[in-house]
Amino acid sequence: MTSSSKPPLMALDQALDELLAHAEPLAGHETLPSFEADGRVLAADLVSALQVPPQDNSSMDGYALRCADLAAAGSVLRVSQRIAAGHAGEPLAPGTAARIFTGAPMPPGADAVVMQEDAEMLAPAGAGELGSVRILALPQPGQWVRRAGEDVTRGAVVLARGERLSPASLGLAASIGLAQLAVAPRPRVALFSTGDELVMPGELPPEQMPPGAIYNSNRFFLRALLHRLGCEVSDLGVVPDRRAATLAALKTAADHHDLILTSGGVSVGEEDHIKPAVEQLGHLALWQIAMKPGKPFAYGRVRRDGDAGHAHFIGLPGNPVSSFVTFLLLVRPFLLKLQGARELAPRPLTLPAHFDLPRADKRREFLRVRRNAAGGLELFSNQSSGVLTSAVWGDGLVDNPAGRTIAQGDPVSFIPFSELLA
Ligand code: AMP
Ligand code: MG
Repeated sequence: MTSSSKPPLMALDQALDELLAHAEPLAGHETLPSFEADGRVLAADLVSALQVPPQDNSSMDGYALRCADLAAAGSVLRVSQRIAAGHAGEPLAPGTAARIFTGAPMPPGADAVVMQEDAEMLAPAGAGELGSVRILALPQPGQWVRRAGEDVTRGAVVLARGERLSPASLGLAASIGLAQLAVAPRPRVALFSTGDELVMPGELPPEQMPPGAIYNSNRFFLRALLHRLGCEVSDLGVVPDRRAATLAALKTAADHHDLILTSGGVSVGEEDHIKPAVEQLGHLALWQIAMKPGKPFAYGRVRRDGDAGHAHFIGLPGNPVSSFVTFLLLVRPFLLKLQGARELAPRPLTLPAHFDLPRADKRREFLRVRRNAAGGLELFSNQSSGVLTSAVWGDGLVDNPAGRTIAQGDPVSFIPFSELLA
C-alpha cells in the first residue's frame, strides 16, 4: 500500500466516542448478596431508611457529662451510671457523669465526653456505687461525640445507580442495613486469539517450540482484565488463521455473548481473516487509530441466528502491549458502559517527567513509565509494542500528545495502572 492510499488516522477520542455510542447498557439486573458484589455496577440508587449513626454516641472510652456542671478543671463529679456499646443509658442526673465506652449512645442531657486519659477515677465510697471522677481538662460542648446522622441522613442516596461497588461501598451499604444489592448483569464475553504462530504455555516446553512459534500471552492478560471488569468469560482459545475456522468461531460466539473480543488479525495483512469473516456475518469497521502503541483496532457486530439481534465485536491488535493498552483505553470503558457505569474515564495526574523524549511521535503516545521515590516518572527503556516487560515494569502510562517532545522536569499527564486495572 502506498502512503497516499493509507486510510486517514482516527483520533483516539473519536474512536472512543464511536465505540461508546454502540455500548447500550445491558437490560435487566441481578440481585446478589453484598458479599459477592465487589466490582459490580449498582443497578438502582441505595436510599437510606435510617440515619447513621442512629443516635449521638461516644467516640472515646471516658465520661459523658454536661459541660455546664463543671466550674473548672479539677472538678469532681459523681458517676451515676455506666453505659457500654449496645446499651441505652438513662437521662443524666444533674451534676453527675456517666462512665461511657466507644460507640455507646450518649445519655440524654449529656453534651460532651471527656476521655479517660483526661480524667482520674476516684474509688467508690460504698458497695453498689460507681465512685466519682475528677475531670482534669475542661471539655467543649460536642467534644468526642459522634452526631446522629453525621455519616448518613435518613432518605439520602448513599450510593447512586451506575456506581461501581468497592470494598468501602459494600460496607456503607451494610451500614444502612442492606445485605443484597441489585447490580447490572455481567457482560458475557467470548474471547479468542488468532494466529498460527501461537502455542499455549504448557502445551509445548520452550525447547520444543518450532521455529516461528511464540507463546500466547495476550490470552492470559485479557482474560484476567475481563474478570476484573465483572465479565463472564468464555475462552474459545486460539482460532487458526483460516476463514472457515474463524467463521465457525464467530457464529458460535455470537449466539450466547454480548461481546466477542479477539486479539490479532486486524491489520490488513493477507493472513488477517477476521475482517472478511466478520463482514460476512455482520459488519465491521477497521480503524487506524492515531495512538501508539495500538494503531489497528476493529469494531463490528455479528448477527445471531434467527432474529436474536447481534453481538458486539471488538478486534484488538496482536502485539501484546498494543492489545493491553487498547483494552485499557477502549474496551474497559466499553464494558463499563454495558454495565451502566457512570465513570468511564480514568483520572490522570500531572507529574514531572524524570526522563527526556527528544523525538516526538506523530501519534498520541502512551509511554510505560514508573514513579520514582523523588515523585517523578521514569521511562522504560524499550517502548516497543511487543515488549510486555514494559507493562510489568511500569505502574502507569504517560499520555503524550502527538508531536510533543518531553524534557526532564516537564509536567506530563500520568494515568496510573491502579485507575485502569480496577
Ligand atoms: P497480528 O495483529 O496478528 O498481525 O499480530 C501482530 C504481532 O503480535 C505478531 O508478532 C504476532 O505474533 C503477535 N501476537 C498476536 N497474537 C498474540 C498473542 N495472543 N500473544 C502474543 N503475541 C501475539
Ligand atoms: Mg496474526
